Amino acid sequence: MNRSEFMKLAFGASAALFSTRSFGFNFRPASSYDGPFTLPPLPYAYGALEPSIDKMTMEIHHDKHHQGYVSNLNKAIDGTPMAKMSLDDIVMSVDNKTSMAVRNNAGGHWNHSFFWKIMGPNAGGVPTGALATAINKKYGSFDNFKEEFTKAATTRFGSGWAWLIKDGNSLDIISTPNQDNPMMALAEKKGTPIMGLDVWEHAYYLKYQNKRADYVKAAWDVFDWNNIGKNFS
Ligand code: MN
Repeated sequence: MNRSEFMKLAFGASAALFSTRSFGFNFRPASSYDGPFTLPPLPYAYGALEPSIDKMTMEIHHDKHHQGYVSNLNKAIDGTPMAKMSLDDIVMSVDNKTSMAVRNNAGGHWNHSFFWKIMGPNAGGVPTGALATAINKKYGSFDNFKEEFTKAATTRFGSGWAWLIKDGNSLDIISTPNQDNPMMALAEKKGTPIMGLDVWEHAYYLKYQNKRADYVKAAWDVFDWNNIGKNFS
């Protein structure tokens, strides 16, 4: 009997929830894996983004999906030089030679940590200040910008993200597949994320089912332009 079979026998289905170290039976729940990265708390209540994003989606998205990226990233970098690197540095280092485990989970941890902060209760509205000026300069109006961003979010095939990025002072709207990120070395169009929208089905399926466009439309009511503006300045 190998270790995995032993654990199945000893712990039943819950064995799948445990991660293991390289030697011995020093296993622990994935949620308390003591790697270098930890799940940041959601900066508002789970239900705070209702009705745009429902409470149960936020609970599962933050506590299960985001936690999964954190735990799997810690496992993927355990015992490697990346265990001493910052998350930004790991993400920026991702190229075509990087393992899929690091690429997906470092991206997943970065993207979700960013995502929670650019939304909030009592948000929505329009950007102000330098970001408003830059958006108007590039897209003509906020409505045109919304249309372009919405197109990027709704046309991304399968799982991924829509992004507003800056490269120097220039803005661009792009989308990336899976948990890729515009800062990654392998990104087709590189830049610093200003805002982003998760268009994985796990981000909206409970409330919106297959209607991604309705979720994207509702997201404009929870984007926090105060925090997004800070990403631009
Ligand atoms: Mn997600």
